[in-house]
Amino acid sequence: MDFIYINNNVLDNLFYILVCIFMFFFLFDNVKRLKKFHKLLFTTLMGLPIILCMKFPIYIDEYCVHDLRQIPLLLGTLYGGWPAGVALLVVLLITRFVVYGFNFLTLVVYVVIVVLTAIYSGRFITLNKKHKLLSSVLLTLCLGIVTSYIAVTMSDYFVITDAYMFYFIILPPIVMFFAVHLIEFLNGTIHIRSNIVKLEKMEVVSQLAASISHEVRNPLTVVKGFVELLKDPELSQEQKEEYIYHVVRELNQAESIISEYLAFAKPATEKVEPILIDREIRNVVEIIRPLANMSSVNIMEKIVPGTVLGNTNYFRQCFLNLMKNAIEALPNGGELMIVSAVEKNKVIIKIIDNGVGMSKEQINRYGEPYYSCKEKGTGLGSMVAVKTIQTMNGKLDVQSIPNEGTKITVTFPAYISELGDFNPKLKQANNTI
Ligand code: ADP
Ligand code: MG
Repeated sequence: MDFIYINNNVLDNLFYILVCIFMFFFLFDNVKRLKKFHKLLFTTLMGLPIILCMKFPIYIDEYCVHDLRQIPLLLGTLYGGWPAGVALLVVLLITRFVVYGFNFLTLVVYVVIVVLTAIYSGRFITLNKKHKLLSSVLLTLCLGIVTSYIAVTMSDYFVITDAYMFYFIILPPIVMFFAVHLIEFLNGTIHIRSNIVKLEKMEVVSQLAASISHEVRNPLTVVKGFVELLKDPELSQEQKEEYIYHVVRELNQAESIISEYLAFAKPATEKVEPILIDREIRNVVEIIRPLANMSSVNIMEKIVPGTVLGNTNYFRQCFLNLMKNAIEALPNGGELMIVSAVEKNKVIIKIIDNGVGMSKEQINRYGEPYYSCKEKGTGLGSMVAVKTIQTMNGKLDVQSIPNEGTKITVTFPAYISELGDFNPKLKQANNTI
């Protein structure tokens, strides 16, 4: 096959299609209100390249107008089903007949394409990426062959030329492959990003599991020792009671470590509620303590009661990430201080460590996804923390000096329940989570 077939017009047609796909994902990702209407948006943005491809075709000969209009038509119908297919067919036929005049063959060919594709679309959207790629390529190829057969049998003058073979049978499946690949790739990326908070949580949960199991082993070893002692038949009642007291105390401790951990690990709800920061911060300290013990980090807390509005699970995750970073900044042990204060209408929580600190660049890039200076870091912890704080209308400030330590100051608007009313800013927070 000669490369003369790939000319400017082909590239123009490709450009229209790819730009519209990118435009869809740009709008879908950035304009929240459009999320609800994503099918309508996709259909509209597939209608645009249909018109552009036909207006600026690859070539026109005496039998037909050649362009890549069937690609957006197929994409729209496969991803959008019947309504999208019918709407795009109408757009295609009107453009064809307005720009180039009525042609019965065109009508038949595109009705066949849309009907067959729409029938298949229900199954198509349930497939995984590999099968979507394969089936869209095969579908495009089969439709090219079937419609050419219809054209040849319906029309006496229709001739299949080399150019027709290339532009109508060979090129569309190739373009379709890349278009579907692009859509699936961008869709997957958006999906992963929206689940990043969950992914980060899973990462933290699995890291904590190791330190928690270590921490539970200690009370269990103590319990085992006392149970051995209890076997002695000559023990006095008093001694027995004392040993049993120790056994129960150690078991309670193990139980509380496990239940704290399970409460954190369970899937988050989206509920927005008043959060008692003293209680929650203490909870987080208890969850993180085993990790701190493993690195000889001493946690000191000076927490005063205060209430903020937000989602408890996200709040916990946020402070867990901040404290975990502080502990990781203290590889040889040190001090981690957690201080809170309530001033005017603000609740302030400070997380201070005397660890490795951060350079100017690190401070500037704090909260940036995937930015990590650690060998096994995900670079997501600080991003999740910053996002959660923003959602709660709070603010995070980083002060850090290399080799001296880091102070993270988080400021939230206080939730004032006594007034029985929400501060207007908090009302907004209520809607955004
Ligand atoms: P990760 O912990 O997986 O590296 P984060 O997003 O939690 O990702 O943190 C990003 C980077 O910010 C870390 O790699 C670290 O260099 C820096 N950092 C965050 N908190 C601290 C801290 N308390 N002290 C020193 N560096 C920190
Ligand atoms: Mg981290």
